[in-house]
Parts: sequence; structure tokens; C-alpha cells
Amino acid sequence: MRVYNFSPGPSMLPLPVLERAAAEMTDANGSGQSVMEMSHRSGEFEAIIERTEALLRELMGIPANYRVLFLQGGASLQFSMVPLNLGAAEPGQPAKKAVYIDTGVWAKKAAEEGAKFLDALVPASSGDRAYSYIPEAPPPEPGCAYYHITLNNTIVGTRWASLPETGGVPLVADISSCALSEPLDVSRFGLLYAGAQKNLGPAGLTLVVIREDLIGRAASGTPALLRYDVHADAGSRYNTPPCYGIYIMGLVLEWIKKTGGAEAMGKRNREKADLLYTYLEGSRLFRSPVERAFRSLMNIPFVPAEGDGARRKEIEARFAGEAAAAGLVNLAGHRLVGGMRASVYNAMPIEGVRELAGFMKKFEANYV
Ligand SMILES: *Cc1c(COP(=O)(O)O)cnc(C)c1O
Repeated sequence: MRVYNFSPGPSMLPLPVLERAAAEMTDANGSGQSVMEMSHRSGEFEAIIERTEALLRELMGIPANYRVLFLQGGASLQFSMVPLNLGAAEPGQPAKKAVYIDTGVWAKKAAEEGAKFLDALVPASSGDRAYSYIPEAPPPEPGCAYYHITLNNTIVGTRWASLPETGGVPLVADISSCALSEPLDVSRFGLLYAGAQKNLGPAGLTLVVIREDLIGRAASGTPALLRYDVHADAGSRYNTPPCYGIYIMGLVLEWIKKTGGAEAMGKRNREKADLLYTYLEGSRLFRSPVERAFRSLMNIPFVPAEGDGARRKEIEARFAGEAAAAGLVNLAGHRLVGGMRASVYNAMPIEGVRELAGFMKKFEANYV
């Protein structure tokens, strides 16, 4: 039996994608080979990577003056590649500046990594109230190399409801946990990046969408594999790319297209999130720790509404245990923040969310 997996990542993949991958496991498209066995320089694989990119461009509405890169190293390597490529000064030159808005663990990690290569300014943070909101984002100082935000904050369950005005400074966003979860105006950004393992495919593949004029700015001495221009010039095949991950992402994109694209995905995701938030609003046992205007559609944390530390821990442990026994798994919150969290990415069907909401109601009735 397949469970409903509420993991924050790696997370559920659409069942039709897994079934198709299984059917093509030993013989992909009449090639007599698995995609895992193909040369990344072969015509067969070239067709796969080109189709994946074309689908992504269509579904995300990526303008022609942006490049799509399929990389490795996860979103975390982008915490280093972004400053190395967009903001590192040549040796002997004064450090450049970039803006980072601090909205939680991943945003902070990005800023910490950026600070190794440039002057990372953090003019706004929501750390004063446990990252339960998105702070007012001030305009950048003149001359900043870029302006970095984490569009959806996976751990605390917040999202930017509107984008900051950055003037001519390129807006850079980590979209790891919200890629293709709803329509996004790519032209507002200089660079977008995402680890694939939440909304797009398996772990090991990282997506970068970068405006062409931002390519080729890496400081000399930057290692080849960390340079966007090297990957762009080689069509993401400077070295062996994560071929199987790119293939699976292509299947996920086909599934998104077949189910109506980003618009329809956004509608379904809002419906799913509304189910849980509506339950939480009326619950006496649980509440959302996130301010209403900034609640994520993808990651929905909830905590016991009252009780001391020991009682909360008891509720959380019992909830996670009983939910898992009912086929609703991975509902424990992040180890750094505790509580519980339901991650309801694109591949989570609404039936799974209905089951969870029903389970929560029953659990509450037995508990309160
Ligand atoms: C999961 C996550 C990361 C880390 O991704 P890796 O691919 O494991 O490096 C970074 N940022 C956000 C917003 C995430 O959700």
C-alpha cells in the first residue's frame, strides 16, 4: 500500500510518473537501455534533456533571455554559487555588497555563505517572532550585486505574498519548496534556483534559471564547476549531469502539463492548503504558528494550542505515531523547531489532505 507522505523533502512523486519510470526502467523509448545506462552525450539523452527544458520553459513561462541549467549540489551549493558568480570581487578589489532578507533557516544559511565572498547585508529579519511572518523588505542600497529572498520557507511555513521592489538590482530567489506550485512571473527575477527533491523530481538535481546578462560575471579563479558560464556554454553537460534525475523531472513536468499547468496546480494547491488552515482555525487542540497573510501553500506547520512543554511533547508524539499507523507519514516538524508539519507539495493529492484533515478531527475529538 502507498502511504500519504507529508515529508518536507525528498517527498512524494506523482504515481503516474513512478509507474511510467518503472515501465521504462529497462528499455526507455525503444533504445534497449535504461536512462541510467545512457551516455549523456547520446542522441537519446539529448532528446530527454531538451524535452525537459522545453517543458519547463513552457510551464514556468521562462522568457527567451533566460538560460536553464541542470546542476548538482542541491540548493545549498547555490548558496555559494550565487555570490561566487554574481558578487565576488577580483583579488585586490573592494568587496561587493548584496542584500539577504532573513526569513528562516535556509535564508540564514544562504546569507552566511554569501558573507564568505562579499558584504552580505541583512536589512530585515523576522527572527524576532520566530520567523512567523515575512518582514517589510527595504529597497537595496545603490550598487548591490543582487537581492536574495527565500520565496517559500520550508521549515517555518511562510511565503512571500508579494515580491520586494529592488529597482535595477537583480532579485535572486530560492524556490526549492515552491517551484511550479503556482504561476510565477520569472521576468521579475535575475536568478531562480531549486533543489528538485520537493516539487520537481528526485534528489541530486538542482535547477537554475538565470537571466543571460548575469552569466559570465564570476571572478577569475572560480573553479570551473562552480561557474554558471561553464555550465551554460556546455548545455549543462560540461561533465556528466544527473541524467536520471533530469529524465524524472521531465516526466513530472509532463504530468504537470497534463493536469493543467501552473495555473491549475496553484488552484489545487490553494484548495489543499485551505482545507488544513480552515481546520486549524476551528481547532481547539492545534493552531498554526504562522501569521495569516504569510502562510505557505506547501508547508503547513501546526502546534498544540496550549499546555506545558511535557504535555505538548506527549500530544506531538501520540499524533505522529497514530497518524503513521493510519498511513499518514512524516508529519513531525523540523528537528530545529519541533511541532508538526504537513508538506503538501504538487504531488500530494487532495485525497491525502482530506484524509489528514479527517484524521486530525478524529484525533482531536478523542483527545480534548
Ligand atoms: C530543502 C531546502 C534547501 C536545501 O536543499 P538541498 O537541496 O538539500 O541543498 C534550501 N532551501 C530551501 C528553501 C529548501 O526547502
